[in-house]
Amino acid sequence: MSVWAILVAAGRGERLGQDQPKAFAKLNDQALMAEPLRRLDESDWIDAIVLVAPPGWEEPAILLAEELGCDKVSACVAGGERRSDSVRAGLAEVPAYAVVVLVHDAARPFLPEEVIARVLAPLSEGWDGAVPGLRVSDTLKRVASDGGVEETISRDGLWAVQTPQAFAAEVLRRAVAGGADATDCAGLVEAGGGRVKVVEGDARLLKVTTADDLAKIASWL
Ligand code: C5P
Repeated sequence: MSVWAILVAAGRGERLGQDQPKAFAKLNDQALMAEPLRRLDESDWIDAIVLVAPPGWEEPAILLAEELGCDKVSACVAGGERRSDSVRAGLAEVPAYAVVVLVHDAARPFLPEEVIARVLAPLSEGWDGAVPGLRVSDTLKRVASDGGVEETISRDGLWAVQTPQAFAAEVLRRAVAGGADATDCAGLVEAGGGRVKVVEGDARLLKVTTADDLAKIASWL
């Protein structure tokens, strides 16, 4: 089974308030994307990697991969306006013989090998895709712009979903072909009728949004 990973790193990350794109923000003196890239490269499950860099940052991304000695990197392309455009650009570099595609956010640097194993397992049981998630434990409320509570939402059966997300390659290709948008790849697959399983995620797969998140993840490494 040939498993290809797409590392999407083309977001602007404006909430971090830095001059460079989020993927190049510093995490313990290295570019943020170095950590997830190294972990994908060292994973026993991954055969090859496609990098999706911020437009104009393809060369620094390739140099970083070389510096880290990541020899599974097969291509580096510029991302698009929306996350789904970036996934589409990356998928175009995945060869037809790939059986499984795993898509991971560069903004989630702490990528445990066990989670990669957990999202790949359901694909051999006939699922179209699998994603890691955490059961929602807080009470959820829909809130109006003035801060007033509109409703309390039952958290029964609600999960907060992370990456890496794994899919049968053909299913993901069909899902992104139409040019639709969603905040994650699973959303695109579900919209096309695909069956996606949620497996146990990991709190350390926190997505870097603010400088505090960077500091927290740095303390875990
Ligand atoms: O914007 P958000 O935090 O949801 O981004 C999640 C991941 O998707 C990040 O790793 C980011 O670099 C990537 N992304 C991308 N292209 C975009 C938007 C986000 O590759 N246009």
